[in-house]
Amino acid sequence: MFNIILFGPPGSGKGTQSEKLIAKYNLKHLSTGDLLRSEIAASTPLGLEAKKLMDTGQLVPDEVVIGMISSALDANPDVSGFLFDGFPRTTAQAEALDKLLKLKKTEIGIVLALEVSEEELVKRLLNRGLTSGRSDDTNEAVVRNRIVEYKNKTSIVADYYKKFDKVKHIKGEGTLDEIFDSLSKEIDSKIS
Ligand code: ADP
Repeated sequence: MFNIILFGPPGSGKGTQSEKLIAKYNLKHLSTGDLLRSEIAASTPLGLEAKKLMDTGQLVPDEVVIGMISSALDANPDVSGFLFDGFPRTTAQAEALDKLLKLKKTEIGIVLALEVSEEELVKRLLNRGLTSGRSDDTNEAVVRNRIVEYKNKTSIVADYYKKFDKVKHIKGEGTLDEIFDSLSKEIDSKIS
């Protein structure tokens, strides 16, 4: 199995690039944002709780997302690899993921970190809000709070993986194809 973390701030293009990467490398896409939005759409108790936090741009509790990822790993025993998108977002989540993967006798192969300037992120997210139907994309204060959460809690997750020499930084500005090529090159150099 070859497992990838696509890492980066909100609006850095993780979702868009994930779609292209899972098709090219035949991976199972696990996006905690998408899993949480499915829970909200189904009005589950977990979804209703998560929605309050997501609508203000805060992270949902670690145990909630770790539980969702654990179930998703169990539900997909025969895949050739996972692409984690929007997870892990805290060091506790990264440690939990390492443990879960170890139980499955696998590990993270590479962490691809997309880099985009803050003003570009805000512009992209508010622009996405015009069509995404996501309430957390329409309000600038919420968008900025998501970036603050990223800086305070998530950016340090890259340091966690740096200890294991797994992080590759990728410029997340340019055309979709240019960014996809940079990501693919890093993956190819690890799997070939
Ligand atoms: P983006 O990266 O564009 O902010 P996501 O769809 O990944 O979008 O996440 C949307 C929201 O869902 C986050 O702001 C957060 O509230 C919640 N969320 C998603 N993934 C996690 C996670 N791993 N840990 C905690 N909260 C999460």
